[in-house]
Amino acid sequence: MGKARVAIFDFACCEGCQLQIVNLEEHILDLIGAVDVVEWREAMSEQSTEYDIAIIEGSITRPQDRAKLETIRSRAKVLIAMGACATMGGINKLKNNFDLDEVRNCVYGGDGTMEHLDTEFTQAVDEVVTVDYKVHGCPMNGEEFTYIVRSLLMGKEPVIPDYPVCVECKMKENVCRWEHDEICLGPITRAGCGATCPSASHRCFGCRGYVDNPNIEAAKDVMQKHGLTDDQLKSKMVLFSSKQEKTL
Ligand code: SF4
Ligand code: SF4
Ligand code: SF4
Repeated sequence: MGKARVAIFDFACCEGCQLQIVNLEEHILDLIGAVDVVEWREAMSEQSTEYDIAIIEGSITRPQDRAKLETIRSRAKVLIAMGACATMGGINKLKNNFDLDEVRNCVYGGDGTMEHLDTEFTQAVDEVVTVDYKVHGCPMNGEEFTYIVRSLLMGKEPVIPDYPVCVECKMKENVCRWEHDEICLGPITRAGCGATCPSASHRCFGCRGYVDNPNIEAAKDVMQKHGLTDDQLKSKMVLFSSKQEKTL
């Protein structure tokens, strides 16, 4: 059997996750040697309509994006959403909290009505098509990306943590950010980053999304213990959790 053909596509995003692939340095050579990269706008000019694995960066913000994504899905055997923009809409989804005309005007001023600047409410990739695997984070974790792709090439099912960042944070013996009066989202956020932010004296802001069954009651207990309200917690969750699905 030949090498798996891989195509990388980007939609609304900062392309920081693709940069993470480039930053894999020597590991990228192993990875690229194991597959045929047939399309990757950021790194090559060739294009292809035939691929086995499609890797999607970015969120969906225009009707033409949805159509393109559906075509990609119909061609790919496996589809991977890469980075928070793709896995959950990411920072782009903040837009969904506002009126679209207000957003256009804020970004483009009087030019906001121009046809090529058309936009709609942000969707994560799995709100449009079926996603087989997710590489979480903003930016995504390069090691986790390599692990997932390698697992697929070996026919193995990658295992993604479904426990909270606090587990990794405690193993690193960090002083809890709550002791510094910061609302840290580690108790409900999916681990896998090695508690990057608390280890650098910052609170977790939830870029990997939440565990499948977050312990909401325990989170509320912590809030109460620190004299904080649910609304204060929600205000800290909005950066990566603007879930409002407005009518398209
Ligand atoms: S997930 Fe973050 S780093 Fe990746 S493309 Fe989106 S904004 Fe950029
Ligand atoms: S700093 Fe955050 S991630 Fe670490 S233990 Fe405290 S709440 Fe959990
Ligand atoms: S600690 Fe939280 S915000 Fe920081 S990288 Fe990990 S999941 Fe993302």
